[in-house]
Amino acid sequence: MPAPSGSVRAVIVTVGDELLLGHTVDTNAAWLGGELGALGVRVVRRYTVSDEEPEIRWAVRDAMGAADLVLVSGGLGPTPDDVTRDAVAGLLHRPLRTDPDVLESIRARFLEAGMQELPEPNRRVAQVPEGARKLPNPVGTAPGLALETGGALVVLLPGVPRELRSIIEGSLGSLLSRHFPGRLPPTLSRTLHTSGIPESLLAQRVRERLPEGTGDVRMAFLPDIRGVDLRLTVTGMDPVEAGRHFEELERKLGPILDPWRFHGDRGDLADAVVVALRARDTDLAVAESCTGGLVAKRLTDIPGASDVFLGGVVAYSNEAKIRHLGVDAGTLERHGAVSADVAQAMAEGVVRAFDAGAGLGVTGIAGPGGGTAEKPVGTVWYAAWYGGRCAVRGERFPGDREAVRERSAQAALMLLLRLLEGRATDASASRG
Ligand code: AMP
Ligand code: MG
Repeated sequence: MPAPSGSVRAVIVTVGDELLLGHTVDTNAAWLGGELGALGVRVVRRYTVSDEEPEIRWAVRDAMGAADLVLVSGGLGPTPDDVTRDAVAGLLHRPLRTDPDVLESIRARFLEAGMQELPEPNRRVAQVPEGARKLPNPVGTAPGLALETGGALVVLLPGVPRELRSIIEGSLGSLLSRHFPGRLPPTLSRTLHTSGIPESLLAQRVRERLPEGTGDVRMAFLPDIRGVDLRLTVTGMDPVEAGRHFEELERKLGPILDPWRFHGDRGDLADAVVVALRARDTDLAVAESCTGGLVAKRLTDIPGASDVFLGGVVAYSNEAKIRHLGVDAGTLERHGAVSADVAQAMAEGVVRAFDAGAGLGVTGIAGPGGGTAEKPVGTVWYAAWYGGRCAVRGERFPGDREAVRERSAQAALMLLLRLLEGRATDASASRG
C-alpha cells in the first residue's frame, strides 16, 4: 500500500450520557478541535454518543472509515458506565490485559491519599488493550491509549477535561509527527487581545481599514464575555517567515485596535493591570458593590499579585458604602447608589482606607430585579483613581446577572489600565 499523503483527517468522538442530556457542555470536543487545528490536522466530523458499547463501537467504526486519526474522549474511568475501553478493545479484537505499571501508579495514588486497599473497580482502569501505546496522564489515573489499526490511529482519552488536556499537551504533537511524517503542515499563530468593542464593530473597522485583506495570514475573531481576541494564523511557513508576516499585519492593525488593545499573559486583562501597577511602583485597592469581589478575585488569581494588590471592600449596602468607604450619605440620597458620583466616591474612599496609590469603585444593577426606567438592569458606573486624577464611566451592559458582573469587572480593569497609562483623557482632578 502506498504511503497516504495529503492532510491528516480526524474525527472526534465524545462519550457520555451527561453530554447528550446537556448536563455537561462538551468542552473537550471544542478544545480538541482547536488543538488539532493548530497542529495542522483537519477535523472532518464529530460524534457524541451515550455510555453504551454498541453506540461507541458504531461511532468509532464509522470514524475509522472516514479519518486517519480518531480521538475518543470519556468512559475510561472505574465506574460501570465507563465502557469505552471494552467497546473499542472488542471492536478492534484486542484483548484487555492488566498493565502492571499502570496498576502500580494507581496503587501509589491511593496510598498517597491514605487508602491502603485499591478498590476492585479501580483495577479496571489499569486494563490496556493489546498493542496499545500508553500516553502518560500526569494528573489522573487513566493513561491515554493509542492504538494503530493499520488504517486509522485511534486514541482513547479520559473525559475529565484537566486530564485530557494534560495528556494531549504532553504527547499529541510528537505522537502525530511520528505517525504522520510529512503530513502536518506547521501552523503558527499569534493572538491579539481587545476589550470594550463588540466583535461586529471590530470586524467592520478592520475590513474598512484593511481593504486589501490579510494576505497569507488567516484572521479569526474570537469573542467571549471579556472581549474579542484576534487570532492570526499561517500554515506551512518557517517561524522566521511567519514572524515577518505577523509583524507586517500587526503594524497595520495596530492603529485600528489601539483604543481597545491590551497585552496580558494568556490574554488576561488583570495580568496587564498588575504589570502596569508594578511598572509605576504603585499599589491598588478596590471597592466593589455589584461585582461582589469579582475584581479582587481576578487580581488574586494572579500568583504574586500581593506586591501591588492591597485588598478590597465589598460594600453592598448603602451603610457599608458610608461606613467603610466614607461615601457621603447626601450623595447616595441625591444620586442613588448606582451613579457616577457614588462610583467616584467609592474609588476615592478605598484609596483613603487602604492608603493605596490607585483605586477602583464599581456600582451597578446586575439584575434580574432592581432595574428602573431610568436605571435599567445592566446599568453600571465605575471609577478609577490614580495620581490625583479620577476617571468615571457609565455603561449599560447586556446579558444576565453573571454577564453583567463579568463585563463590569473587565470594564473597570480596562479603565484603570488606561488611567495608569495616562490614556484616560477625560480623567479629572480628584483628592482621593
Ligand atoms: P468520564 O471519563 O467519562 O468518566 O468523564 C468524567 C467527567 O468528565 C464527567 O463526569 C464530566 O464531568 C467530564 N466530561 C466527560 N466528557 C466531557 C466532555 N466531552 N467535555 C467536558 N467534560 C467532560
Ligand atoms: Mg462518562
